[in-house]
Amino acid sequence: MKAQQALYIDGVWCPAEGRDTIDVVNPVDEQVIGQVPAGNAEDVDHAVRAARAALPAWAATPPAERAARLAALRDVLVARKDEIAGTITAELGSPLAFSQAVHMGTPIAVAGSYAELAATYAFEEKVGNSTVYHEPIGVVGAITPWNYPLHQIVAKVAPALAAGCTVVLKPAEDTPLTAQAFAQAVHEAGVPAGVFNLVTGLGPVAGQALAGHPDVDLVSFTGSTAVGSRIAATAGAAVKKVALELGGKSANVILPSADLARAVNVGVANVMSNSGQTCSAWTRMLVHTAQYDAAVELAARAAAKYGDRIGPVVNARQRDRVRGYIEKGLAEGARLVAGGVEPPSERGYFISPTVFADVTPEMTVAQEEIFGPVLSILRYEDEEDALHIANGTVYGLAGAVWAGDETEAVAFARRMETGQVDINGGRFNPLAPFGGYKQSGVGRELGVHGLTEYLQTKSLQF
Ligand code: NAP
Ligand code: MG
Repeated sequence: MKAQQALYIDGVWCPAEGRDTIDVVNPVDEQVIGQVPAGNAEDVDHAVRAARAALPAWAATPPAERAARLAALRDVLVARKDEIAGTITAELGSPLAFSQAVHMGTPIAVAGSYAELAATYAFEEKVGNSTVYHEPIGVVGAITPWNYPLHQIVAKVAPALAAGCTVVLKPAEDTPLTAQAFAQAVHEAGVPAGVFNLVTGLGPVAGQALAGHPDVDLVSFTGSTAVGSRIAATAGAAVKKVALELGGKSANVILPSADLARAVNVGVANVMSNSGQTCSAWTRMLVHTAQYDAAVELAARAAAKYGDRIGPVVNARQRDRVRGYIEKGLAEGARLVAGGVEPPSERGYFISPTVFADVTPEMTVAQEEIFGPVLSILRYEDEEDALHIANGTVYGLAGAVWAGDETEAVAFARRMETGQVDINGGRFNPLAPFGGYKQSGVGRELGVHGLTEYLQTKSLQF
């Protein structure tokens, strides 16, 4: 799509106050494919005022009508699926089939789920002699990353709109064209002016202005723990609610009774998918010592099969960061069994699918979020040891458990300090709450739990 040289505020595309622009780069060939405005604090203020002005009418709009706008939005995303998938591929670098199936398929499902929830959720309940109203929290400042550029926007904007909130979005600087396509879809869906506003810009400028704006009631952020904790501190000082979806270092625990080949193959696919740029990726594979060598061989073979079928990472900084982690793994004594620092191609921000064996729990590659196609395989002696390793990071976003029978896997999963666990390769559920224990975040996204993040209660006593 053609880049808009404008911000979407109060239902129209308008020029930014800020004169700076952001170059959008295709990570496959490093070519500039467009430019968007880098909004500044004044632009953010303009957008927040529009969202504030639109709030009373949108909050008072019957939920059935809000649901109708969300259903229309879902329909526009369906109609524009191939076009927006092309935009995502151009600025993120993901293979087109993956953009269509996952980068578009997921937000379409999520938008549909909130059309349904807006229509069916009980925004009013009776508790004894009280009537409790679930009211919109107000103006939402949404700050999103680039790794699932449309999904992360929809996972915030759809529940916020369902709840009756209005929104100002600051998307990642690497993927602003997807955000512009989303704004066009919102417009086409007939969402009233000011209910959704888009300010493209840089994190430390537009992002910071939005997170600190006194007239924003809730900041919903997805991204790094470093930025998230800063946003939470600012919001806390202003007695403002935050929702944070941060990093992860999830464990894929393969118990001895599991189907080893399936668990390893699905585990490798999970890490390599989206070139490893998935916050919930199972980047630590935990294997019993008796099966360890077999698992390493299977994983190395599976990773090699990916070869050049995965896309690049999003930008040069991420490529250098991921390479730095691979070097650190080697320096700390991990054994490289697939991939490595050598770039698979001259052009583009590509990293070879990489697997480390003989990783011990305290190594950097076992503790820090790498955000690239890098898997670490760790060895455990018994189930207690596996649990200790699985829970032994500051994160707790996701995970997987594989076992011969579900009861055994569930018993282990219940002891994991993490927000989501896939049992024997369980399927993604767009209604299941998604979010982190420990430093992986605060609050939940998706489904009814994601909706209630944007609501506050008022009780009337009779
Ligand atoms: P990031 O800096 O946390 O970016 C996330 C969002 O926050 C972007 O929109 C960013 O804008 C914005 N931002 C940056 N600094 C800000 C500030 N001071 N105030 C308000 N907003 C701010 O993450 P990143 O630089 O894209 O990636 C760094 C690392 O974060 C990755 O390697 C990965 O480990 C982690 N990460 C995690 C997730 C996740 O889903 N949990 C997603 C992305 C990244 P800009 O785009 O302009 O920077
Ligand atoms: Mg950044």
